[in-house]
Formats: sequence, C-alpha cells, structure tokens
Amino acid sequence: MAVANGIVTIDGPSGAGKSTVSQQLAARLGYTYLDTGAMYRAVGLKVIRSGIEPQEGPPLERLLADLDLTLAPGVNETRVLLDGEDVSRAIRTAEMGMVASRVSALPPVRRTLTALQQKLGQQGRVVAEGRDMGTVVFPDAPYKFYLDASPEERARRRHEQLLEKGLPSDYQEILAQIIKRDHDDSARSLAPLKPAADAVIIDSSQVDAEGVVSLMLKHINAS
Ligand code: C5P
Repeated sequence: MAVANGIVTIDGPSGAGKSTVSQQLAARLGYTYLDTGAMYRAVGLKVIRSGIEPQEGPPLERLLADLDLTLAPGVNETRVLLDGEDVSRAIRTAEMGMVASRVSALPPVRRTLTALQQKLGQQGRVVAEGRDMGTVVFPDAPYKFYLDASPEERARRRHEQLLEKGLPSDYQEILAQIIKRDHDDSARSLAPLKPAADAVIIDSSQVDAEGVVSLMLKHINAS
C-alpha cells in the first residue's frame, strides 16, 4: 500500500463522524489512531481542575510545563492518562468539548500540543484526527481528508446517540452548541478549522462511516 510509513490526516468540524472513520481507517491500514481532540480536552480538564484562568500568562505556562499526557489507543477509544489518572470518560462531556474549544485558541496550548503531536507522529503509520492536522501539524502528510456534514445532520446524529444511551438530550441545544463550536474553531486566528488546500473533501451527510472509509481507501490505493 502506498502510505507505508506515512501519515493520513482527517480534519473537520465536530460531529462529522471523524472519530469513527479515523479508528476504522487506522484499523484497516494497521496504523495508530491519534486523537488530538482528546489532547485539547485533557488540557481543558487540567485548566478547570487547577482553577487558573483560561488565558495566557505564567500560570498557564507552568501548567503546560508540568503537563503529563499519555495517549493509549485502544480498540474502541483512546485511553487518555492525565498526570497518571485515566480521564478518558471525564473529558468526553459536551461541557469539556466547549472548554477544549476555548483553551485550544490559546497560543501556548497550541504550541505545546502541536509539538507533542508531531513527536507522536514521527514514527509514521498514523491516522491523525483533529482540526489542523493537514494544515499545521502534518502539512507534508501524503493523504489528507476533510470530513464535513451539515450542522443539522451532525446535531441529529449526536441527539440520537444520546437518546440511544438513555441520556437526556435537547436537539435545539445540541445544534446551538455545534454552531457555536464551528464558529469559534473556524474564526480563531491560530490554526483555524479549514480544509488544507490539498485535502480531499468528503461530505458524510448521506454516507455512513463504512462508506466514508471505503472512499478514503479507494483514494489512497489509487494514488
Ligand atoms: O474533536 P473534539 O471534539 O474532541 O475536539 C475538542 C475541541 O478541541 C474542538 O472543538 C477544537 O476546538 C479543539 N481541537 C483543536 N485542534 C485539534 C483538535 C481539537 O483545536 N487538532
């Protein structure tokens, strides 16, 4: 296969199905899945727990210098260890998504996590999922994808997932959160959410995860 030792990047807005697709594609290629959203969520959790203001300054610099973050890709999800504690569940709430979005706009946070992600990618054979994988973190990756879907479709999927799990859910609230997070992620000056110029854009509104993975594999094998 043409991607030997390569890096595949998958960027796109929240709820477009990136995680499922990235995990499946990594499994099919025998690559490691790199969940960079989990890293921003973990930093968000550390900021909240430490009680510092989510803004630039010495307290944030100290927090980042002390950051002990380990990702252990598992079968169904990446286990995230923050200062030795498994925070995989704690970081998955909608609230932590919003906090992650907030801290991810801070330059020292982006600098620290970009460097860590590049280090993790050095070994190659990685499917890297996030917002700026193809544009900033791995600009030379041989395969770049941008997965999109309408805000309404993404909110509908999330709403159904929560109801299936027996959790309370309000479609309008989810839609509003998605629209806000899209706006914040796209409007920030540093590493904004946007497709790389050489990314293949896939709209997942009408295609399920398996269909998207097939499209990606076709593209990779054809190159
Ligand atoms: O993908 P996930 O929803 O877990 O990401 C949480 C937040 O982290 C995103 O809304 C985004 O603000 C931020 N993020 C980022 N760059 C990445 C991955 C995530 O800014 N590469």
